[in-house]
Formats: sequence, C-alpha cells, structure tokens
Amino acid sequence: MVAAACYTLAAIHCLAWFQARARLEYLAFAAVATATGTVTLMELAAMSSASVDDMARIHQWVHVPVVLNYVGSVFFVRQYFGTGRMGLGYTLIALRCIGAVASLASPGGLYFVDIEALRVVSLPFGQSIVLPVGQLSSLHVLDTITLVGLLLFVIDAAWSVRKRARREFWYRGVWLASAIAFYNIAILVHVPMIHLHLGDLPYMVGWSFLPTILVMAYSMSTDLLQTARLARDLEEREASLRDSEQRLSLAADAGGVALWSWDEQGKALWCNERARREFAVRDVADIDRLFRNMHADDREHLRDVTRATAVGGYYELDVRIETPADLRWLAVRGCIDDGEPPGGPVIVRGAAIDITSRRHLEQELRTMRDEIAHLSRVTMLGELSGAIAHELNQPLAAILSNAQAAQRFMAAGGDAQAEVEEILADIVTEDRRASEVIYRLRSLLRKGELALEEVGLNEAVQDVLKLLRSDLINRKVELDIELAEEDIKVRAARVQLQQVLVNLVVNACDALAQLGPSERRVTVKVAPCGDTSALVSVADNGPGISQQLANRIFEPFVTTKEQGMGLGLAVCRTIVLAHGGQLWVDDSSDSGARFCFTLLRA
Ligand code: ADP
Repeated sequence: MVAAACYTLAAIHCLAWFQARARLEYLAFAAVATATGTVTLMELAAMSSASVDDMARIHQWVHVPVVLNYVGSVFFVRQYFGTGRMGLGYTLIALRCIGAVASLASPGGLYFVDIEALRVVSLPFGQSIVLPVGQLSSLHVLDTITLVGLLLFVIDAAWSVRKRARREFWYRGVWLASAIAFYNIAILVHVPMIHLHLGDLPYMVGWSFLPTILVMAYSMSTDLLQTARLARDLEEREASLRDSEQRLSLAADAGGVALWSWDEQGKALWCNERARREFAVRDVADIDRLFRNMHADDREHLRDVTRATAVGGYYELDVRIETPADLRWLAVRGCIDDGEPPGGPVIVRGAAIDITSRRHLEQELRTMRDEIAHLSRVTMLGELSGAIAHELNQPLAAILSNAQAAQRFMAAGGDAQAEVEEILADIVTEDRRASEVIYRLRSLLRKGELALEEVGLNEAVQDVLKLLRSDLINRKVELDIELAEEDIKVRAARVQLQQVLVNLVVNACDALAQLGPSERRVTVKVAPCGDTSALVSVADNGPGISQQLANRIFEPFVTTKEQGMGLGLAVCRTIVLAHGGQLWVDDSSDSGARFCFTLLRA
C-alpha cells in the first residue's frame, strides 16, 4: 500500500514536471517517492524470502534505490528551498554510491559479512516473517555517516531559508528536517535491533521515510494551491483592468482625446484608437511613422521636453501633424512615469486633443488685432501730423537759415572757411533730426509682429515726450516728468511702447481742454514695480473718469469725443497685454485721471 502510494505520487509529480520543466523539484520528489516505494517493496520481499540467497540478494541490491533516494532528497532541498551546501550534498551522494557498490560486492550486503541463516519471527495478528542471521559488517558505518550527513544537510538548508525567505518556507524546512530526523532515529534504532536480535520487529526503512515524503508532498501541494489562487486572482484583476481600460477608451474617444504611452527609447507600448487617427498611424508599433508625420521642429522639441522632464513630472506643448492632406495642431500634455520593472526605461505617457480650429481662430484674432492697431495708428496720424509738421519745420528752418548764412559768407569773400564748416556741421545735425522724425512716423505706421528688444524705459519715455513737445506747447499743457532713478530695462517693441505713451498723453491733453491754460498739467512717471516689472503712469488734473465710463473705457469704440473712434485705449491694452503687462485706470486719485501700465523687466 505504501509502495503504491509512493509510485502514484511519483507518477503525478513526473507529469507535473513534464508540464513545467523548470520546476525540477517535482522531478526530485518523483525520484524520492520512487526510491521509497522500491525500498518498501524490497523490504517486503526480503521479509518473505524463501532462501538465504534470496535474502542476501535483496540485501545487496536494496542500496541502489537508496542512492536514488539521496539524489532526490539533495536536489529537492536545493530546488525547492534554493539553499543547501551542494558540496556536502554531492559528498553524501558519492558515499551512497560507494555504499551501493560495496553492498553489491559483499555477499551479505552492507550490513552483513555474510547471511548465514533465516530466522522466523511471528508478528501480532498471526503473521510470520523471516529475518537474516549472520556476522555483522563494519560497512554499516557508511550508512550511519550518510544518515547523519543528510540530517545536517537539511538542517543547514532550513537555517539559511530562515534568514532569506518567507517565514512559511522556514516552517516547511523545519518540518522536513524533523521528518528526516525521525527517519534517522527510526533506522538507527530499529535496524540494529533487528540485526542484534533485540526484538522481533519487521524492517520499516520505507515506512520511516514516509513522513519525509508527506512533508515534501504537502509543501508542494500548498504551493500548487497558492499558485492556483494567484492565477484566479490575476484573471479577475485582468478582467477588471480590461473593463476599466474600455471605460477609459470610451471616455477618451467621447472627449476626442488621443492617449498613448511609449518608453524613453521611443518604443511604442500602447495607444488608443483616437491616437492612431490623430497621428495618422495604422499600428501602435509604428512610432517612427508617428514621428515622421510630426513637424520636424516639434518632433525635436517633444523629444527634448520629454527627456528634460524628471520622473513623476509633467510636460506640455503644442505640436503640428503634417499629412499630405492637411496640417493639424495638437495640444499635448503628459507625464513621465517610472519604468516597469523599476529601473527599466521610463515610460512617457501622453494625451492630445486637436486644437486646429482654435489655432485658426487665434490667427484670425491676431490678424484682426493687427488691423485694429493699424487703423488706430492711422487715426492717430491726424493727431500727430501737426506735431510732426512742427518738428520738421524746426530743423528745416534751421537748415535754411544756416544755408543762407553760408551763402552770405561766401558772397562776402575773404577767409570764412571756419564759419562755413561750423554752419555745415549744424546743417548735418538738423538734417539728422528731420530724418529721425520721419523714421519715427514710418515706424508708427508700419504693420507687423512684435519684435521685442531691450528698451531703456526712461529713454523711451523721453523720446516720446520729445516727439509731443510742440503739441504740448501748442495746447499750453505743462508737463511734469518723474523718471526712475536708474534707467529700467524692459522687453518691449519700441514703436508699440511709444504708441501707448502717445495715446495716453494725447488723451490726457484732450481731457484738459476745458481748463484754463495755467491749470493744465500732465505728469508722466516711471518707477520700479516689484523685482520683475516697471510701472509707467500718465496722470492729468482734468475732469477725471466717471465710474460708469471707467468700467467700459478699454472696450473698442467707447468714446466721448466728437471726432473720437474709441480705439486708442483698446489698442493700448492689447499692446500692453501682448508684452505681458497690465493697463488700468487708477480710480484712487481724487482729481483728474491716472492711467498706469506695467511692463516686464528685461
Ligand atoms: P478716443 O480716441 O475716442 O479718445 P480712447 O480709447 O482713446 O478713444 O478713449 C476712450 C475714452 O476714454 C475717451 O473718449 C474719453 O472719454 C476717455 N478718456 C481717455 N483718457 C481720458 C483722460 N485722461 N481723462 C478723461 N477721460 C479720458
């Protein structure tokens, strides 16, 4: 019965090993079970031997399956627990091989020099068996040494498991060591008792190994159950993952969001249907095609941005996708995740939405804004033409009078070279002034994008006021200028900045028209504003702005003037906002109006 159970277990584990070749412990266990079953059968045969020769032959051969038992046990411990000193293990196997050979060479096997007779022993329940009688051999010491060696091998392996593996494994090691200790004690006690005629006992070597077999089988079957449970858990989790992935894809599709992930080497891992459409790729693995469809500048930019983003960080940028049919804009947002397993290439995740129509709208708006600004500047031309004519008149008059003076010197004859040189130098200076005025006028009328440069704010304000000087004089407006202590550098388009200032100062002058000439006063002030900005204010002592008007004053076409267009402040605000600053009307002043704007420092 024991043998049948052992063979059945051996067959089952052989099949299990066939299914999972890497699990060598199944094979080792099958060897142990086969050897134990065979030893049990041989013991039975020995105890029912008909002659001394039969008994001797069994005693000689029984040590061959024992070798298999040791091989199986040593490799089981090694494979299952992953520990065990293999030097000791191989020594034990070698000693068992020597024992098997010595047993085959000796007429009485390993225990007897020679078996001389058989003695009949009656067991309870009326059964009788035969046992050998003969001179004992000293070779049985080999048996004792290997038994103790095997016990030490298992104890050492179990001890190492305690330090390295889970507690559960340590318990299994302890159980195995205990079972082998039981086997040792059983053999070391009952075999000598039989041979020394100290008791009428049957051979029970196979039986003694049974607890070891049970511990091994129990350990492995527990693992099998755990594996089955884990597989079931995994299946359930996979199903719920598939479910949430489907929901996510549905939500992403409904929201028009393209999702993808790839690793840092640019290998695509996953993307949803929408991403395939947006990036015009057929296959998720076709990442090269994705990059090829992307505008060359954006492609490099995207690579740089994702590389520069730390693990756990977010990135965002807009990219262009070019296909033969069209060019589209995508707003891309994403994050960088740790690789799986940790330490592997990091994962770049992303989500994108199509913003092509938004981009078109923005472009249209920009064009409209430029048109309005242009229109406003043209309108302003009317205001400025007087000032410019006056500015040009001055140098032209100076040039004329200088030239006439030179003519007079020349007509008078004599040595007037020094005077003529001086006059010519004056003419050159005046001419330059005139061309500067014309240049400013042209830049005010030119249409185009903002070309930001580093501008000294004090200097820019002074420039504009120089341009408006004659206008202010004509209108009898007194001008106060409070410049910043040091010239603050801002990033601005010089002409646009001038436009804002001109607009505010002209508005202030307009507001003073009702006051008597001696009361008209405009104050322009430049000051730092925190560490990052500068503040410019234009204040007047005119009638001020009612709260109702102040709420709408920056809207286009809001005007109280007969000839006004109501575009000046709207354009000013657009310009200041485009520079990253703010323009507002300060309602804290009790008389007149005060307009303030900020600009970012360079
Ligand atoms: P407009 O070109 O018609 O003057 P603006 O946009 O320059 O248009 O100004 C809109 C309106 O804001 C003006 O019509 C005027 O009523 C008011 N406004 C602007 N600046 C001042 C100021 N300094 N004092 C009083 N009212 C002002």
